[in-house]
Amino acid sequence: MSHVVVVGASVGGVTCVQSLRELGFDGDLTLLDAEDGPPYQRPPLSKEVLLGGDAAHADLLDESALEAIGVEFRPGTPAVGLDVAGRRLRLAHGDLRFDALVLATGAAAAVPAPLTNLIERGAHVLRTRGDAVALAAALGPGSGLAVLGGGVLGSEIVSAAVSRGVPTTLLARTGQTLGPLRGALVQRLLPLHRSRGVAVQTDRTRISRGAGRWRIDAGAARHVADTLVIAVGVRAAAGWLERSLPVGPNGVRCDSRGRVAPGVWAVGDVADRAGGRYDVSRNTQAAAVAQAREVAGAIAGDPLRVPVVPYFWSDLHGVRVQAAGRIPPGVRIQPLDRDDAGAPLAFAVVDADGTVVGAAAWGSARGFRRARAMLGTPLEQEVVAR
Ligand SMILES: Cc1cc2nc3c(=O)[nH]c(=O)nc-3n(C[C@H](O)[C@H](O)[C@H](O)COP(=O)(O)OP(=O)(O)OC[C@H]3O[C@@H](n4cnc5c(N)ncnc54)[C@H](O)[C@@H]3O)c2cc1C
Repeated sequence: MSHVVVVGASVGGVTCVQSLRELGFDGDLTLLDAEDGPPYQRPPLSKEVLLGGDAAHADLLDESALEAIGVEFRPGTPAVGLDVAGRRLRLAHGDLRFDALVLATGAAAAVPAPLTNLIERGAHVLRTRGDAVALAAALGPGSGLAVLGGGVLGSEIVSAAVSRGVPTTLLARTGQTLGPLRGALVQRLLPLHRSRGVAVQTDRTRISRGAGRWRIDAGAARHVADTLVIAVGVRAAAGWLERSLPVGPNGVRCDSRGRVAPGVWAVGDVADRAGGRYDVSRNTQAAAVAQAREVAGAIAGDPLRVPVVPYFWSDLHGVRVQAAGRIPPGVRIQPLDRDDAGAPLAFAVVDADGTVVGAAAWGSARGFRRARAMLGTPLEQEVVAR
């Protein structure tokens, strides 16, 4: 294997090139990204940059660190197509030949067709560093914010805005799943937002714009906001691969180890892994890192033998939400611990055979440790909270 090309220089791509070198790969390594500037990660965008923090805090490393490990980094270089049999990556100007290719192009903010007109009229999304800088500048104590989408990202944006004193409205459908938690914790989320002063609207809404403000009508209720953010999910950045590889709505289809085709692997948000759809870590940084390490091992001939347990966390209004394992459809969500008011703090996700396949906790590190320790074991009735 003499030339490995990695497309996408965020957490998946950067972890992959670093791991290859750590594992002793001494061939040529090229890392390219469509965006200009140094590689960066996304978690600080909602947790620091929206709070007014320096956007440079999101940097993963500087370009000299890549140079030091012999990686040719090419920012501002979008890949536009792929010849799998000929092992050539198509760029805007010419082809790049590879022996192994790692697809790490991640995802973009999803904007369904009925909402594109809102973007045209100035609504924000949050995916890139530029998005975060623009949204942070729009948030101020005197201005109102409306967030469309009550999943993890929408909830993090609400949490950041509230902590900056921004009057905030959350437009969320009831029953909406909390991202990878697939309903395990959703019944606690909307009450938490309300307790922090957020106006939560769960009815069908009509959004219009006039006199420089957004107007949100929901039945008899009306809200106004200066800034609107659409946070309704992500779309895998795989459109450029549709002619050459199996691509579905969740990304490039690959086997359970990330292999797509001979010489081609996929990691992170762009990878639709066999069996991985219900991992709690799907579309998270933790998954991108774990998959990148695994694929680097496969390319370097040093495969990882211990499977990684999927893991997810988020901080919402200061409450740490955690989950591990899988939450597929049809499982039972069994509360384990409750707080003094009787609300569940930790959960075991139990499959039809009675085996614990997932664990989740709400603001309870102890509860999470307890639930996580049960993964892969039969649920014992005596541990179940009444
Ligand atoms: C605001 C925000 C906060 C988040 N917070 C958390 C968190 O707290 N915890 C957590 O686990 N996860 C979090 N996530 C999710 C996490 O950031 C993603 O799961 C992770 O970034 C996926 O990494 P990736 O490398 O697969 O893809 P991405 O981070 O999407 O990176 C893909 C890269 O590929 C480049 N690219 C795309 N198309 C092309 C092309 N055709 N040619 C060349 N380059 C291309 C892009 O420019 C980009 O740099 C958050 C996401 C967001 C948006």
